[in-house]
Amino acid sequence: MSEPEKVRLRLAPSPTGFLHIGNLRTALFGYLLAKSMHGEFILRIEDTDEKREVEGAVDSLLNVLTWLGINFDEGPHLGGDYGPYIQTRRLDIYQKEIQTLLDNRKAYRCFCTPERLTEMREEQQKNKQAPRYDRHCRNLSEDEAQAKIKAGESFVIRQAMPLDGVVEVYDELRGAIKFQAEDLDDHVLIKANGVPTYQFASVVDDHLMEISHVTRGEEWLPSFPKNILLYQAFGWILPKFIHLPLILNKTGGKLSKRQGDVFVEDYKTKGYLSEALINFCAFLGWHGKTDQEIFSLEELEKEFSIAGMGASPAVFDLEKLNYLNGYYIRQMSPENLVDLVKPYLTEAIATAPFNISDEYLTKIISLEQERLKVLGEITQATAYFFVDQSEYEAQLLVWKKSDAEKTKTNLQTLADYLAVYSGDWTKENLESSIKQLIADQGGQVGDYLWPMRVALTGRQFSPGPFEVAAVLGKEITLKRIKGAINILNLESGS
Ligand code: GLU
Repeated sequence: MSEPEKVRLRLAPSPTGFLHIGNLRTALFGYLLAKSMHGEFILRIEDTDEKREVEGAVDSLLNVLTWLGINFDEGPHLGGDYGPYIQTRRLDIYQKEIQTLLDNRKAYRCFCTPERLTEMREEQQKNKQAPRYDRHCRNLSEDEAQAKIKAGESFVIRQAMPLDGVVEVYDELRGAIKFQAEDLDDHVLIKANGVPTYQFASVVDDHLMEISHVTRGEEWLPSFPKNILLYQAFGWILPKFIHLPLILNKTGGKLSKRQGDVFVEDYKTKGYLSEALINFCAFLGWHGKTDQEIFSLEELEKEFSIAGMGASPAVFDLEKLNYLNGYYIRQMSPENLVDLVKPYLTEAIATAPFNISDEYLTKIISLEQERLKVLGEITQATAYFFVDQSEYEAQLLVWKKSDAEKTKTNLQTLADYLAVYSGDWTKENLESSIKQLIADQGGQVGDYLWPMRVALTGRQFSPGPFEVAAVLGKEITLKRIKGAINILNLESGS
């Protein structure tokens, strides 16, 4: 089949909550397919379920997507030739379109009261039948229906499903899928208040907005035959359908909001970079032609294709995201990195007992750049640079089988040496001269460097002593080594 002339894809979120990873993947795939086929990407807000609407959801969605670099060509914020782009502003359009289906009897008015429907459901439950509308109103004549309307009876409009046979649909990733018509419910297209359901509004809008490819989550597969039947009822040309695979967690379960960690905003707050999130999400159901795993958004806009997509569930692997985030952090210029991590250090800077110069800050951050996986980790990782003296147990200073006395002596040797040290205070210089000092003393390297590192950081794990000393400078380095000797003195009571 040849590609449709105009390529137009849409993101059709309901403003019922904040963007989660699943929505982001849907947004990204739609955007990338549109761009890779030189098409347009449209934002349509599906707000027909007013009860579930969350204030601020659309703004927050646009903020996050803009931050990620996913932009639209048309939408409520941009306008366009196919508007309005908010479904509740299109109610007259749906009213006009449903009339066509009423006229050709592909839809019918249903006047059943809620009480009758409840009774019907209870009866079905008792008889262990699948819950579905019993088509009570399906054969009302137009005159009967009009009489009821005149009498003020309220009604919904239902889709008249075929009573038997097979409905065959085609998904670009799964091929042909067959549904038994008898399993399909005469479901509601227009609610009693005149507002359409998702099923009706999305088909009407996709058609009128000339959407060429419908990308949406696999959870919409059960709606697929109903949608196709609507297209057929209208006599409209079908778009291509691409149902994106489920995203599972590593244990094979569904990603759940309750486990936290599904909202894109949360990832942003923790310090994940947009580049990493994009790169990561691109692989949730797509693979490039080679083993290349690092992709920029621009590269993806060129490389992305339906051919690279699959239908089997994608696995959300946080380690992979951390790996990618670490990669993008390492690629950043020190200046950019400082700008990005500064907000995570605001409190540490404000409460430090000494002035934190930009130069000092840049050095601290550069020291962590290699290791950092998530920007927010910087706060904990560098806390010891912002205090006068870290608190730690005296025992932590003692290396393996060494003892407190020897540790104290070695620290004193280091302190005496560094007090008169006149070389450049750089990591390299400190390393070669201190190693020489240790060799001259005939000591064990670990017996000097372990306590030195702990004295400077107060931590069991941290960057090495020379790197840290280089950042701290001579004065603070000496102060901390002397502080460590004091701690050992206090411990031994001497
Ligand atoms: N409004 C639907 C949702 O937010 C959109 C599904 C679709 O893309 O068709 O899940």
